[in-house]
Amino acid sequence: MKALKLTKIAAVVLLASTTLTACNNATESDTAKENITKESPSTLKNESATNQPELLPGFENRLNIYKEVTLTADLSHLSANQKQMLALLIDASKIMDDLFWQQAYSQDKKSFLASISDETVRRFAEINYGPWDRLDGDKVFLTQATKKAHGAEFYPADMTKAEFEQSDFSDKMGLYSVVKRDDEEKLMSISYSEIYHDQMNRAAAILDKAAKFADDKEFSNYLTMRAQALRTDEYQASDFAWMDMKNNPIDVVIGPIENYEDQLYGYRAAFESYVLIKDLAWSEKLAKYAQFLPELQKGLPVAKKYKAEVPGSDADLNAYDVIYYAGHSNAGSKTIAINLPNDEEVQLKKGTRRLQLKNAMRAKFDAIMLPIADELIVPEQRKNVTFTGFFANTMFHEVAHGLGIKNTLNGQGPVRQALKEHASALEEGKADILGLYMIRQLLDKGAITDGTLEDYYTTFMAGIFRSIRFGASSAHGKANMVRFNYFQENGAFSRNEQGLYSINIDKMTAAIDSLSQLILTLQGNGDYQGVDSLVKESGVIGETLAADLARLEAASIPVDIVFKQGKKVLGL
Ligand SMILES: [Zn+2]
Repeated sequence: MKALKLTKIAAVVLLASTTLTACNNATESDTAKENITKESPSTLKNESATNQPELLPGFENRLNIYKEVTLTADLSHLSANQKQMLALLIDASKIMDDLFWQQAYSQDKKSFLASISDETVRRFAEINYGPWDRLDGDKVFLTQATKKAHGAEFYPADMTKAEFEQSDFSDKMGLYSVVKRDDEEKLMSISYSEIYHDQMNRAAAILDKAAKFADDKEFSNYLTMRAQALRTDEYQASDFAWMDMKNNPIDVVIGPIENYEDQLYGYRAAFESYVLIKDLAWSEKLAKYAQFLPELQKGLPVAKKYKAEVPGSDADLNAYDVIYYAGHSNAGSKTIAINLPNDEEVQLKKGTRRLQLKNAMRAKFDAIMLPIADELIVPEQRKNVTFTGFFANTMFHEVAHGLGIKNTLNGQGPVRQALKEHASALEEGKADILGLYMIRQLLDKGAITDGTLEDYYTTFMAGIFRSIRFGASSAHGKANMVRFNYFQENGAFSRNEQGLYSINIDKMTAAIDSLSQLILTLQGNGDYQGVDSLVKESGVIGETLAADLARLEAASIPVDIVFKQGKKVLGL
């Protein structure tokens, strides 16, 4: 699954993506400390004497973890037709947003939000698409709310796993259907196109209309096919059409896509949308890196047999500015990179497209990374925390998933199967560390001309602090902790008496190489026990680090961002 919400899902949710996934990076963050006003909880209580939900004690300091940023992009190069099309794509996205609310929470969105008297609390509920704190393990933060069902609204609330597993009905594990009870209380499925008939048809009609305004023929074709997919629950043809687009300056990712919201089984897809403007200049810069993949694979710091596989060099890697997020992609933490489609058949035939969401990354960098650096990095290295470094680290993480080894060398089949529940954490750890390896190599070869090694390393370090705030329980979280502890043991960084961290370039380089070797060897050997020990020993947050992370919270540094977005802010 997919999207690298650094692609998002709050770490918590970031459950391991399955195979094809990209990484939803559960990494990103922000806050709204300037925006969120400070109403005291006692005021709330007085106001909401009877039926109104109130904020539960202990959540006061959660209300400002999201920093609001205005989501804009340069639209000056677009034609009048294209601008009209963008407005329509935003309209269709809003329908996805409403559909996601229905998947996430049983109460009607409008009446639920209207019942919350305090503006700040209401906004927090809106960001979370319900009464659960998505960046803190879905903890209930409102009175009158119950624990979030693992299966969200995809399954009947009273359904047990045993009942589901013993039942036999059509589309039981379907991506695009909801499980309900029939007249005899037996489980059955209803397709999205049927249960959400009106909304799906309205969204489809808008996409059809938008297709008429598209200057790019392939994009117009994709919109028409996507509209048809919404009406029929058959998405594959539109995914193929999406893979075939190369030159469209505008893009949209829309429909039921990721399965993270279904925490019960991970079967059912949640509605979301991204409306995107391609950044042609940055995309050109990225295109040249893919050609180095085979060479970088050969140079990996590991014995030959662990790098015998040959990566493709046709990675589709582009930079975009997002102008609208809706539904799942907008709930809780915000995705900053996308790797789609999730359909494995499409992936096998066409690969995937990797979309780097530049303006959202920039917003997270400004709102979160820089303040973290000020709090935790030694003064003389703060200048080395750069947006170029953040962008590159994020991007090369994605590309690095393509390096290394996919199949074990000793007959245990795919690495993913051999390493079981640890496979995702190790794969994410591999992508992070090999991403840094790639950057160093490309700097040496002169292929990357911006920034210094010290920039990329120091930015990476600040990025670890940022990511760990999403928790250490997800695949990304465990990978982060293993790496942090490994770096520490190998002197890649040190912490002074003031609690400030500094990077040792040479030792960091050595640690990157030896950790790369360790991970690739564990993968190639399908060494489940070895990974299990590594994760158990190193995949945890120590006391000192926990105290340092508490300093970030005390300094009110946002955990993630939330967007002020829409046609008005774009002037459409
Ligand atoms: Zn990843």
